[in-house]
Amino acid sequence: MIQEFIKEVQTIFSSEQVKLDLEDRIAYGIDASRLQGLPSCVVFPESSQQVSEMLQLASRYRIPIYPRGAGSGMVGGSVPIEAGVVVSFERMNRIIEIDENNMFCIVEPGVVTEYLQNIVSKKGLFYPPDPSSLKFSTIGGNVATGAGGPRAVKYGVTKDYVLAIEAVLASGEIIRTGSMAVKSVVGYDLTKLLVGSEGTLALFTKIVLRLITLPAPTSLMLVTFSDARFAARAVSGVLKSNLVPSAIEFMDEFVISAVSEFGSIRLPEDSKSLLIFEIDDIPEVKHLVIKRIEQVCESNKALSIMIAHDDHEKSKIWNLRRSISPALARIRRGKINEDVAVPRNMLPDLLKVVEDISRKYEIPIPVFGHAGDGNLHVNIMYDPADDRERESAKKATRELFTNVLELRGTISGEHGIGVAKSPFIAMELGNELLQLMWRLKLAFDPLNILNPGKIFMPNKAFIG
Ligand SMILES: Cc1cc2nc3c(=O)[nH]c(=O)nc-3n(C[C@H](O)[C@H](O)[C@H](O)COP(=O)(O)OP(=O)(O)OC[C@H]3O[C@@H](n4cnc5c(N)ncnc54)[C@H](O)[C@@H]3O)c2cc1C
Repeated sequence: MIQEFIKEVQTIFSSEQVKLDLEDRIAYGIDASRLQGLPSCVVFPESSQQVSEMLQLASRYRIPIYPRGAGSGMVGGSVPIEAGVVVSFERMNRIIEIDENNMFCIVEPGVVTEYLQNIVSKKGLFYPPDPSSLKFSTIGGNVATGAGGPRAVKYGVTKDYVLAIEAVLASGEIIRTGSMAVKSVVGYDLTKLLVGSEGTLALFTKIVLRLITLPAPTSLMLVTFSDARFAARAVSGVLKSNLVPSAIEFMDEFVISAVSEFGSIRLPEDSKSLLIFEIDDIPEVKHLVIKRIEQVCESNKALSIMIAHDDHEKSKIWNLRRSISPALARIRRGKINEDVAVPRNMLPDLLKVVEDISRKYEIPIPVFGHAGDGNLHVNIMYDPADDRERESAKKATRELFTNVLELRGTISGEHGIGVAKSPFIAMELGNELLQLMWRLKLAFDPLNILNPGKIFMPNKAFIG
């Protein structure tokens, strides 16, 4: 049946837009989670109409459809888990309109996030969401995962900027949700429902994004502490003082020692944690904010404070932050990168939980991330060739989630559920809420052809 389907698909797309080679199917069957699937074919639509025609056909043949942006997802969201079609949006990458007066833009889903930010900044405008993958991840992927980044502490995450979406349902019907107006309360907020839907409800073909005015150039502060709890208290202190840095990033002792040989910054020997503050207030206000953050950090026993205004010094600090992933890769080959989040005043408790789990299972668990949002990357490291470590990593993951939920947190602050976290979703939502979400899913996609096996476990009770 899939062969007949592919024959018909080839009448919708040009030969350039359909890939059937094994190499292409392998390349488009994997994402940053390293989970690998093998689609029957990969298509590269160039218009909403083509997406619509393809979905009509897929519904007729009941073929699974796997939407894909850049494949930078960490939970296998775009990975085909059974035979079907990967729909890559990389050729739908036009910025259709930038309305400078009303401060919004209309883009196709394949636009790369940093590219959009650079283009709008030339007009004095700002699209703030900044996942660390912004150099390659796409707006479509960011919207489908509800991506966030360091700036979330001041500017919020992707969902705070999506005004409207054009999307294609599994039936092929093209819908338009939301409004270009800043306020709109007409009917259910389907735009918000689509944000974070991980390709399971509809395929986005156009997205309207709110823009704001470009802020002043940033300054950075790098502050070290002899204890992670002092850093966590400094974060609470800064936020309680009504100071809103545009980013507050955290690294623990493990991460500091891993990155120390990469960076060109010498840190005090007894540094056991550090915070990076980014401040983007107007110059008249900025020095007051920096002074106040200095005071809060000093009252929480800061060991050293470095302030960077010029680009060279700032890049040294950000390079330290960016070197985390390659540095951690040297510790162990296996890494379960969890992105849990807790209410911000629970950060010291979360750090204690991680320390205890690491000691109990005798595996390294370096922690870094967006302390300003209570969203930390907890990296459970293990040697894949070592049975004990592999088992310990699995147990440590479940124990981490149990503890995070007890701290009133969430098992994913930004990466989403995909395949990797679907065995754990009921721990947070419970079965009744999950069933309700499944009924919503079926209202959009009655045949379950859109990204099947994601969010919801491929469980007979759900698939019916
Ligand atoms: C080095 C690195 C750093 C990262 N840092 C961050 C971070 O700071 N914050 C963060 O939130 N994430 C981060 N991520 C994870 C990842 O980059 C984000 O989840 C991102 O939003 C995925 O975008 P993508 O274009 O790669 O989408 P993909 O990975 O291709 O897809 C992600 C999901 O979106 C769906 N999808 C894609 N396009 C569409 C569409 N047009 N319509 C409907 N569904 C669609 C897919 O089916 C899938 O479920 C990081 C990843 C890496 C590798």
